[in-house]
Formats: sequence, structure tokens, C-alpha cells
Amino acid sequence: MATPRTEHVRHSPSSAYRWMACPGSPRLIAQAPPETTSVYAQEGTAAHAVLNACLSQGGDAARWVGRTVEGVLVTDDMAEAVQTALDTVRPLIGEGDRVFLEHRFDLRGLNPPAPLAGTADVVIYKPDTGRLIVIDYKHGEGVAVSAAGNPQLRVYALGAALALGDACPTREVEAMIIQPRADHVDGVIRAEGIEPFELIEWSADLLDAMRRTLDPRAPLAAGDHCRFCPAAGLCPALASRALAVAEADFQDDTIPQPPAPETLTPDQIGGVLTQADMLEKWLAAVRAHATGMLERGEPVPGWKLVAKRATRKWGATHTEDQIVNALVTLGVPTGDIYPPRIITPAQAETLVGKPAYRTHIAPAVVRESSGATLAPAHDKRPAVAARAETDFAAIPQ
Ligand code: SF4
Repeated sequence: MATPRTEHVRHSPSSAYRWMACPGSPRLIAQAPPETTSVYAQEGTAAHAVLNACLSQGGDAARWVGRTVEGVLVTDDMAEAVQTALDTVRPLIGEGDRVFLEHRFDLRGLNPPAPLAGTADVVIYKPDTGRLIVIDYKHGEGVAVSAAGNPQLRVYALGAALALGDACPTREVEAMIIQPRADHVDGVIRAEGIEPFELIEWSADLLDAMRRTLDPRAPLAAGDHCRFCPAAGLCPALASRALAVAEADFQDDTIPQPPAPETLTPDQIGGVLTQADMLEKWLAAVRAHATGMLERGEPVPGWKLVAKRATRKWGATHTEDQIVNALVTLGVPTGDIYPPRIITPAQAETLVGKPAYRTHIAPAVVRESSGATLAPAHDKRPAVAARAETDFAAIPQ
């Protein structure tokens, strides 16, 4: 579904990391094609709805498995991720705390040069200590977001402190991100402590950045913040930066095409991988932009849209009973038509409770990684042994 771009999204807290770094981005984004809702965004909306429902109504996320929320089927994977957030948030809430769920905060109290408001997932205020905890749940697995200096959380913290007013003074702020499905060097729960005076100082930078975006000649500045920029496909600054990276990597013009990986030195491989992120972002943006053009009927020379590979599913012309009867008539046993399926570990935990699960069920549960993935050397996870080493280790000496 396409959503027309509107003025109010120009300064959302969730995109503050981008417009604070690239003042020209709101102007260019206003010229970008309408936003389309991605399946990932829908999943994120559903996961947030489950989190909110569990926090406001009680119960664990596994209870929602198999139900449709916001048009999305809640899976074990989603429930497990949401449960991580629940297990983190619930112990933080004490008696007498003020808790805001899915609460909309704004910065009107700071007289911003344009509207700035957003919805915080969870905000907890502890009246006895003046501690304000701002929590953002991120369901995405693509990009792990850091809590340190996170503008989105800082905007929510400012909004919450303003909303609480002088009667409930904020004496310390903790900004927390819970992102269970993405790898980050600091783990899936990351937090930053901020002194209120630091937050006030930072708000001056925020308002300055907002003012810069309102200048009709505000410059474009490409960088890591370009990822997910809706204007990436038409951005001249990102295009020149990506081309500069490509030229730097393959500047030997006697080479008609990129060199085979096995001919590169380890240093060259490291350098290419470091720059690849920028190129991949740009290529993804160009592909998305081209797809949008073709969908709108605009030509892209040499390219067209084709139907994706079709998969078979039961149609609407026959009822389930009719299909089952036909299969049984053809000799298929009913057990093969409806194969029994053991419940998942997450569902078992809900049924028997956490203590019994830990004692009797958890020993039968394993966590399996689907394989190894590339990570920069500073990543905190331990390196997986090279395959040659494990192969040799498996050979009896
Ligand atoms: S792609 Fe990057 S440089 Fe271009 S408008 Fe977006 S954030 Fe700015």
C-alpha cells in the first residue's frame, strides 16, 4: 500500500538520526515516490501490538502465537523476540511508578521551529528517585541500533520530562533499546545513562539541526544514515559517494571487471568489505526506485517487471471439507492430511510455567545458529573456528 508523504513525517524522532546528519534530506524525501508498507514494517507493527497487549493486559507473548494481529500471523519467532522485551521491561516497573505505554510525546514545550512528536513504546518514571527510563523495542533484524546518543530516545525522554512537569522532576535518564533479533556488539539490550543537564544541552543541538533542515538550500550529506532513506534512489550525494567508493576500489582501468575475490590480498578484501555496505545500500535504493518507477508505468531502459515464482495454495473455489474428502477418497490417510505437530518450546513454557520449564523442559531444548556470518573484528561475539580447523579436529589422530 502506498502512503503519500506528508509534512508531519519530516521531523519524526525515528528519523532524527538522518535529518540531524543530512539537513537536506527532508526536502529531498518530500520529492520521493510515495512510501509503500513493507512486510517487515507490518511485522514490526504486529510485534509492537503484542508487546503493548502483554504489558497492559498481562500474559506472555507465546499466548499470541497463531493469532493474527494487525493483519500478521504471530509466529514463535515473533513471540520469542517480544518475550525478551517483556522479561526486560516487567522487572523495571516498581510499585508507584508511572508507566506510559505507546504514549505520544511532543516537544511543544521547547518551541521547536517545526512540529516534533512521536510515540514511545514504554516510558517508566520512578517518583521516589526521579529516574526516567525510556525504552524502544525494535523488531527488525537488519540493522542493530545503538542506544548511545540515540536521538529518537532522547526526544522521547525530553517529551516525557516536559509532560511530567516540575511536579515530577527528572533526576536521571536511562535510554534503552531492546532489539532481540539483531546482532550488536553490546548485546540485544543496550542502554545509555544521560544526565538531565546533558539532555537539555543536546536539545539545543536538536533544535539547531531542525532549523538547518528548514533552509531551502540545506545541503545533502551522505553517510551511514543514508540506509533506509526514502530519497536514496534519487539522491545525487549518495550516488556520487557510492561511485567514488567503487572507483577507489577498482581504480585500475586495465581491469575490465571487478577482480575475482581469490586474487585479492587479505588487506584488499578487508577494504572492500568495509566499503561494501555503502555500495549495497545504494544498489538496494536504486533497485527499489526502479521497481517503483516501473510500477507507476515509467520506463527503465532494459528492465521490466515480471511475476515472482508462483507457489501453489488452496483456492477459494472448494471448501476445506471438499478437499479433504477428495484426498480421503484417493486413499490419503487423514493423519497425513493433518499431520500432528508438537508444540514449540515457547508454547510449552507458557503451558507449564517458567520454573517447570527450566527444570523439566529446557534440557531438551537447543538453540541452533543457522550458520556463520561475517562480522567486523571489533564485534564482541567470539570468532567461530575456521572450517579447516574443525575438520582437522574431527579427524582421529
Ligand atoms: S540518501 Fe543520504 S544524503 Fe541523500 S538525502 Fe538521504 S540521508 Fe541525505
